[in-house]
Amino acid sequence: MNTSNAVDANLEHRVEKTFCRICLASCGLDVETDGKTIFRIGPDKDHPNNWKDFCSKGGSANQLIDHAKRLRQPMKRVGDKYVEATYEEAVEDIAKRLNLIRNRHGANSIATYLGNPGAHNQPGTIAQSGFMKAIKSNNAYYVGSLDTNNLQLSVEKCTVLKWRFLSPMWIMQIVSCFWG
Ligand code: SF4
Repeated sequence: MNTSNAVDANLEHRVEKTFCRICLASCGLDVETDGKTIFRIGPDKDHPNNWKDFCSKGGSANQLIDHAKRLRQPMKRVGDKYVEATYEEAVEDIAKRLNLIRNRHGANSIATYLGNPGAHNQPGTIAQSGFMKAIKSNNAYYVGSLDTNNLQLSVEKCTVLKWRFLSPMWIMQIVSCFWG
């Protein structure tokens, strides 16, 4: 996909309704596109799940696709420079270093943190959980475990589901969705 303003007459110009995955607010978006090019991203004023607006991150999300400085492969720090590496090289190098740390200090010396927008990417949460189980570390953190542990604990204690990662914000939204 590119984001230039060139209009291709063979493609259907349309507005796609979707939502921003960058943070928990999940603002509704109207994306003007022909399926190949993004021409404009605007707030979906009719979206039931937001404040009828968006922030500059959602408005410029198309830059994630073909910004000149987009990282397209792993970069390895060599001295005071970053050089391109293959995924195989990156995984091998990181695995070697993590094994050294784990052997020296134990599995719990390795922690992960999953924040925005990775936390909204289901494979991201599955990968984090699978990785931490594989290396046997208990130290998996995410944005809620840093500053809203009290809320997570309240949800675990007070709700039928007893699921600490269910955000109180989501619960309020679900309740208002079903019961107005
Ligand atoms: S538009 Fe901004 S506030 Fe809304 S979900 Fe995206 S990043 Fe979050």
